[in-house]
Amino acid sequence: MSEERSLNFLEEIIEEDLKSGRYTRIITRFPPEPNGYLHIGHASSICLNFGLTQKYPGYTNLRFDDTNPVTEETEYVESIKEDVKWLGFTWENERYASDYFDNLYAFALKLIDKNLAYVDDITADEMAAMKGTPTEPGKNSPYRDRSVEENRALFIRMKNGEFPDGSRTLRAKIDMAHINMLMRDPILYRIKHAHHHRTGDKWCIYPMYDFAHGQSDSIEEITHSICTMEFIPHRELYDWLIEKLEIYPSHQYEFARRNINYTVTSKRKLLQLVTEKHVTGWDDPRMPTVSGLRRRGYTPHSIREFCDRIGVAKRENMVDVGLLEFCVREHLNKIALRRMVVFDPLKLVITNYTQEEEMLLSENNPEDENGGVRDIPFSREIYIERDDFMENPPKKYFRLAPGQMVRLKSAYIIKCEEVIKDQEGQVTEVRCTYIPESRSGADTSGISVKGTLHWVSVKHAIRSEIRLYDRLFRVEDPTDEAGDFKEYLNPDSLQVLPEVYAEPALATATLEERFQFIRKGYFVLDRDTQSGKLVFNRTVGLKDAWAKEVKKG
Ligand code: ATP
Ligand code: MG
Repeated sequence: MSEERSLNFLEEIIEEDLKSGRYTRIITRFPPEPNGYLHIGHASSICLNFGLTQKYPGYTNLRFDDTNPVTEETEYVESIKEDVKWLGFTWENERYASDYFDNLYAFALKLIDKNLAYVDDITADEMAAMKGTPTEPGKNSPYRDRSVEENRALFIRMKNGEFPDGSRTLRAKIDMAHINMLMRDPILYRIKHAHHHRTGDKWCIYPMYDFAHGQSDSIEEITHSICTMEFIPHRELYDWLIEKLEIYPSHQYEFARRNINYTVTSKRKLLQLVTEKHVTGWDDPRMPTVSGLRRRGYTPHSIREFCDRIGVAKRENMVDVGLLEFCVREHLNKIALRRMVVFDPLKLVITNYTQEEEMLLSENNPEDENGGVRDIPFSREIYIERDDFMENPPKKYFRLAPGQMVRLKSAYIIKCEEVIKDQEGQVTEVRCTYIPESRSGADTSGISVKGTLHWVSVKHAIRSEIRLYDRLFRVEDPTDEAGDFKEYLNPDSLQVLPEVYAEPALATATLEERFQFIRKGYFVLDRDTQSGKLVFNRTVGLKDAWAKEVKKG
């Protein structure tokens, strides 16, 4: 797929840079803030950053942007590493912005010494009031003209913990009338007496994003620092700081955020769903997180394929979740093992089958020649789906009905001879005869039938639980609706079938195996499985049931 498509704008820039000799190798980074689990939007940034250095000479760093001590946790760091690895990527170096706190502190002193930064004593409210507007210039702080010596002494005292939170800041001295509001003496450091997950209590001043990100890029000699469009106004400050500090000139490039419909892609909002228990956790199979998609049964390949297909753009747009589902369905069709599971059983007795049982062979995956075969036990009593039988069928009903013939998948052709009902008139059993010469793979009966049903031998069936998932939200963009986004949660996003009947080969299913339950969809074992009780998640249906619903209106 990637061979076929034309270059995206970043690949064009990089090919030009390599051709002109500006760089001989490309260094990118993926810079998550460890304040939540990665979601599908992050996956697209990961595929982009790591994808570029797979394609061109160079490497990618994983850098945790851990400059905010309050929201960051080690649990998140671990989950992020696991997700990046699971997606199939390997970073060259694992770095933390907090590794650079000493460098950043030295950079701050350098700016102070060049009279390009000053300690300000005004409050946050005063600062906001003096910032001006896009059409009006701001006002200089009364502390702006402090001497270099005084600034240096005060900044050192800030670092030594002599002042309370919020009492002073270090600001860049740029221009309070600049047309770019971010260039109006931005804050570089703030005082925060807080414990940091890596540096502990060493620091009580923390650098702001703008004074950490570009500098970390520069320290790592990142050539192409790729971020999302909302950072376009920051680029001027990014360049200013690198120029004034006279450090390695990394360059920032922006691409559009990727969001998918019927969900939210914001760590802050996903965190609310978790803490308020609208979902069972970050890896709830309905979550658009990498860990949720993984538990749902998505393959790394299908997520990479999705990111590749949506590509890189400069304009934000909403991507249809149907494309993600298409990508996983396409991959699972190729790799999933075929199995038979009956969700809503109707008992069927084959009256002329006199053997105790026999083992039938069936392919594990008709799409995969090397997929092997499995044994399926066949016996006199089997389950079929209740809705595969109709007593009074309409025309062109090719499933089972009185007097009608169907094939049992991988087994025999059967004919319905008799229907047994209870007192309420509900069908409790159907009795059939089978045609011994019609066995799949050795059929000499000469009979052809239109319908093929899946089935499970009653005495061999394993009772299992199935979890079916639907969209987490009822509307395409819950953050674009009136009121709280959580009002738009889909109340039917989870449906549990506590007792379905699975063929015995599923008894040895493992967490990493993917299955197609014939005629039902793609499924994966859930980690809630216990000995004696298998639990399966539906990854995706066989066809796009949702699109059909939408068409029906
Ligand atoms: P969130 O709002 O979910 O917290 P974020 O941008 O604050 O997202 P970061 O941890 O700062 O999250 O992001 C790490 C990287 O992933 C950044 O380079 C960011 O631009 C990128 N990224 C985040 N969300 C998306 C998205 N929806 N599409 C593409 N890239 C994204
Ligand atoms: Mg962020």
